Amino acid sequence: MIRIFILFLLGTSLFASQVERYRWSNGETYLVFLQNHNLPVKELYYNLDKDDQRLTEEMRAGIHYQILRDDKDEIEQILLPLNDELQIHIYKDDNSYKFEAIPIISTTKTEAFYTTITSSPMYNILKETGSKKLAQIFVASFKHSLNFKNDIRKGDQLVMIYEQKYRLGEPFSMPTLKVAMIEMRHKKHFIYLNDDGRYYDEKGHEVEGFLLARPVRGARISSYFTKRRWHPVLHKWKAHLGVDYAARRGTPIVAAGRGVVIWAARMGSYGNLIKIRHADGYETRYAHLKSFRRGIHRGKRVKKGQTIGYVGSTGRSTGPHLHFELRKRGRPINPLSVVQVTTKKLKGKQKKAFLRLKKNYDESVNLHLNNKTAYKKRPPFINISYIHLLEEKTNE
Ligand SMILES: [Zn+2]
Repeated sequence: MIRIFILFLLGTSLFASQVERYRWSNGETYLVFLQNHNLPVKELYYNLDKDDQRLTEEMRAGIHYQILRDDKDEIEQILLPLNDELQIHIYKDDNSYKFEAIPIISTTKTEAFYTTITSSPMYNILKETGSKKLAQIFVASFKHSLNFKNDIRKGDQLVMIYEQKYRLGEPFSMPTLKVAMIEMRHKKHFIYLNDDGRYYDEKGHEVEGFLLARPVRGARISSYFTKRRWHPVLHKWKAHLGVDYAARRGTPIVAAGRGVVIWAARMGSYGNLIKIRHADGYETRYAHLKSFRRGIHRGKRVKKGQTIGYVGSTGRSTGPHLHFELRKRGRPINPLSVVQVTTKKLKGKQKKAFLRLKKNYDESVNLHLNNKTAYKKRPPFINISYIHLLEEKTNE
């Protein structure tokens, strides 16, 4: 039996409980958070298993979370979102507090905006939307194909179509770019998200990525990245924040991209672990290694494709495999979504499907260009709202 609590935003309910909304502050830790709210650290941290304890370390500054109090002003429930799919749920049950990780219920909206450039795409998107994330995503998508510094003129225009997730009426998580269009010197340039999850230009040529997809040559993926996974044995929601490659013990592992080794030593359940820091705030992690390659140590610069270690089964591992993680500014992201091996050119059936998709996208872009679609500004963050609580029981 899984219990899922759904929170409904209701303005005027007689039975409403009070919900406080906060932002997780910089440097705040889960343990300090518990102490500040007089919550039992034993039940809510020390008695948890290692995986759940590790989950509590995933809280990031700036994340919005909710505290629900009863009419005696005692904490009834807390929801702490860890990523876009999983959240920690702390709740009172028979006068004691319980901990569980449950899926986040979210809705996704497709949004778009148009803007004219007076200075740079970065500056004008930020000015239009107030969102650094949107500006960064747009600029990064053209990074390998256009030179904004030299070729932008005042009055050039751009359109961005993207998906945004909402939780309890508030946007959260990274937006997903669907189409980016920039008109420079009367020529339109596009980046499209295809159905295969990769980005292509208007000719159906893949936009170049900077990391290798497979740090182990010829290896089979034995476990995919997921922010929520129902664990059949442990009977709870877990996350697997990396990709597992099954390979024979001793198989060479290569650096997924150019960077600096910032860790090459044992680290708890990771076993022998290598961390490499790359450009733009990216970091890759290679776990359970049998051994490190000679000369691989902290501070060492490595090239893309260079051997750094060998597949093993150290740490908490059931058999020889590489556990590979990709993080951006500390946040785990799916390595398979960003990492692109070789630049792919769509052909045949795939190209036809892409061109159909492109046609639809182009029509939307033209519509936004003609309408000069403004970014929809959201109401400011309100600290307190009232909600009605509904408990829904679902059978596994
Ligand atoms: Zn793994």
